[in-house]
Amino acid sequence: MKISVGVFALWLVLVCDAAAAQDLPRANSVPGGIAVVPLVAAQEPMPRAYFTSQRVMVVRQSGFWRAVVGLPLSLTPGRHRLTVADGADNEREYYFTVRAKRYAVQYLTLKNKRLVDPTAEDLRRIEQDKAAIWTAFATWTESDSPPLRFHMPAQGRLSSGFGLKRFFNNQPRQPHSGIDIAAPLGTPVTAPAPGTVIETGSYFFNGNSVFIDHGQGLISMYNHLNKVTVTRGMQVKRGQKIGEIGMTGRVTGPHLHWTISLNDSRVDPLLFLSDESLAQTK
Ligand code: ZN
Repeated sequence: MKISVGVFALWLVLVCDAAAAQDLPRANSVPGGIAVVPLVAAQEPMPRAYFTSQRVMVVRQSGFWRAVVGLPLSLTPGRHRLTVADGADNEREYYFTVRAKRYAVQYLTLKNKRLVDPTAEDLRRIEQDKAAIWTAFATWTESDSPPLRFHMPAQGRLSSGFGLKRFFNNQPRQPHSGIDIAAPLGTPVTAPAPGTVIETGSYFFNGNSVFIDHGQGLISMYNHLNKVTVTRGMQVKRGQKIGEIGMTGRVTGPHLHWTISLNDSRVDPLLFLSDESLAQTK
């Protein structure tokens, strides 16, 4: 068979593009989603991008830099600005549009009233917890190519989706900042992508928890664990056990709560799942 150079070159471009495209999360420019913004600068070094003064992930795809921007659930739909500085510190502004998204409402009932109306002492502990959790989410580690395709961290049923507007015992609370995977107590929880354990702890609402830093502001969090099997500073591989499913903290049954944070914005973890892993949740 004779293939002309032109056709072969086109085939190569298509194949390379398909391979490269797999490494980006699914873009969904809504609050709680991800905007992928192509940047003009093609040369090294990697440009630095900022959204609402937070440093933002930049990755190289098909020879061009792209900013991968986490959009907080609280973001107002409309036009938003990204500020980008190149290696010579020349600044350029990029604009992208965030569409509105309506998230469903969820009502949950907890028998332990303290988990809905904490005591003054509980509130002091909750404040300490928040400080530790926010510090973990604000971590920035330089990385050339952070992992952007994740596996499911546990085998189980997707019991609550991301972004639900929540009412506990009919009282409005923060929206659901991750997804819930329901599975029996003791089911292994594994790292869905490589990274470094930057924090472990036991928190009032989140229970026993693990935080993994995947680089460039991409942090994942695992809550309500029965058992934590890693310690701070450990490097973890994809598929390595980090703990077991439990029901510690504010829960109605055994499940894993899984959060992904990008540039300190909690985003829908399903946007990072490989097609194969996403099919498992259906
Ligand atoms: Zn949850």
